[in-house]
Amino acid sequence: MNSLTSFESRFVIDEINLYIAVISTDHTISFANKQLLHFSGVHFENIDHLPYWELPWWQNGMENQNQLMFAVERAFFGETVRFDATYMKYDNTLHEIDFILKPLYKRDEIVSVIAMGYNISDLVKTQKALTRRQRQLDAFFEFSSDGYCFCLLEQPTEIAQTDDDYIQHLMSHQKLAFFNQQLEKILSRKLTHQTAIADIFPNVSEIVSHWREMIIHGKSQFDTIIQLEDTFYEDSALDAYLLDEPYDRLYIRVTLVAIFDDQGAFEGNYAVVRERTQEVRNIKRLEFLANKDPLTKINNRRSFYEKAVELIETCQRDKIDTSVVMIDIDFFKHINDTFGHDAGDTVLYHFAALVKSFIADRGIVARYGGEEFVLLLTCPFHKAKQLMEALRIKIAEMVIEHGEQRITLTASIGIRGNTRQTDNIDTLTAEADKALYYAKNHGRNRVAVYAELPAEETRENI
Ligand code: GH3
Ligand code: MG
Ligand code: MG
Repeated sequence: MNSLTSFESRFVIDEINLYIAVISTDHTISFANKQLLHFSGVHFENIDHLPYWELPWWQNGMENQNQLMFAVERAFFGETVRFDATYMKYDNTLHEIDFILKPLYKRDEIVSVIAMGYNISDLVKTQKALTRRQRQLDAFFEFSSDGYCFCLLEQPTEIAQTDDDYIQHLMSHQKLAFFNQQLEKILSRKLTHQTAIADIFPNVSEIVSHWREMIIHGKSQFDTIIQLEDTFYEDSALDAYLLDEPYDRLYIRVTLVAIFDDQGAFEGNYAVVRERTQEVRNIKRLEFLANKDPLTKINNRRSFYEKAVELIETCQRDKIDTSVVMIDIDFFKHINDTFGHDAGDTVLYHFAALVKSFIADRGIVARYGGEEFVLLLTCPFHKAKQLMEALRIKIAEMVIEHGEQRITLTASIGIRGNTRQTDNIDTLTAEADKALYYAKNHGRNRVAVYAELPAEETRENI
């Protein structure tokens, strides 16, 4: 036997989480299950003479009663009626009930109507809470200063390999399932749900490794630059001058978090895009102001000491001789007086650029002050002497144009070798300076080496 016994079916009907009533043709109820009676808080005997819609638990509104009366009538006409309605229970709590009323037939004739109510209050409450949470999240995303997006594949995919081609393939198939306005603002472009990740980052090959890291480790963070088509970020003139910063360059920090489904297949990722152009520029500006000379844009004296001490230490360890060089432009005052102070500035700028490019990776260069420059070369003094001779000639050959004017100049150079590698940077610069003054006093436009100076020149306190 497959069917339930009457005991079993009675049990099911009473225990099932539905309010069940059977309505007779005279609209009174001939049956109410335990759940319904429990919900209403009445005994069956007290209600079996009342029309269904006049039962005490929904007497609190004419509208409700009319709706129920109408539904019962329609069901007795053979319709299945379904609707949601809010009712106040006897304990004054509001309940959302999903009703279904169905006619029951006996030999083609409707003998009664079964009414089933499903209490969906908890569902509705949960749904409302979810909607509220959703609105809070939307506000959070919309008003955030960071860009957010979800990038999803159409189908979750097992990650079988992680070579560059495959990762690029994944990136070109990941679309923006969600993005906030801030992301559009940061990227200064309109996005759609069809936009692929690969379209957002034009330099895809550079960031493939970060996507690989995200897929393997679940998370990845990296800094990158986006070249904007329309300029959004206006440099101050100072930034542009000091930092040689292009106007259309955007510095961003991207945080990626991978999303996998329950089976471990890759679904896509969540990305936070933080714009840090101004932050990066501020750091660069601070570094520049601390370390560089604003006119010549080469190291200032302070950063020279810092870098020189470090470089000398490295060279001591690697047994490489170093030399300190002082260079001073000859009769610079005369250049200022003849061509003007602006022309003097131009000369200093080009002079510094020449020295810096001449030295290249053979050492470090700094403006020591005024028209005096200091170098630390990673070679012994005899090699430094050859180099400086070549530089001296280059300087003498250089023609600097300032407007209509063509300016030539010479410089004097003093060298102090650091072969013993025991002297500190102050001694080295002071003695390179002594060699420089020897060169000045012996005709200028020449190179002098401290070790080769006549004995009386190197005595203390000359
Ligand atoms: P010497 O051959 O003995 O070195 O003669 P000099 O004229 O080069 O040396 P002096 O020290 O008498 O003069 C240096 C001049 O450099 C004086 C100063 O006004 C000028 N000067 C220093 N800093 C700057 C600068 O930033 N711009 C310009 N245009 N001139 C500067
Ligand atoms: Mg000078
Ligand atoms: Mg000087």
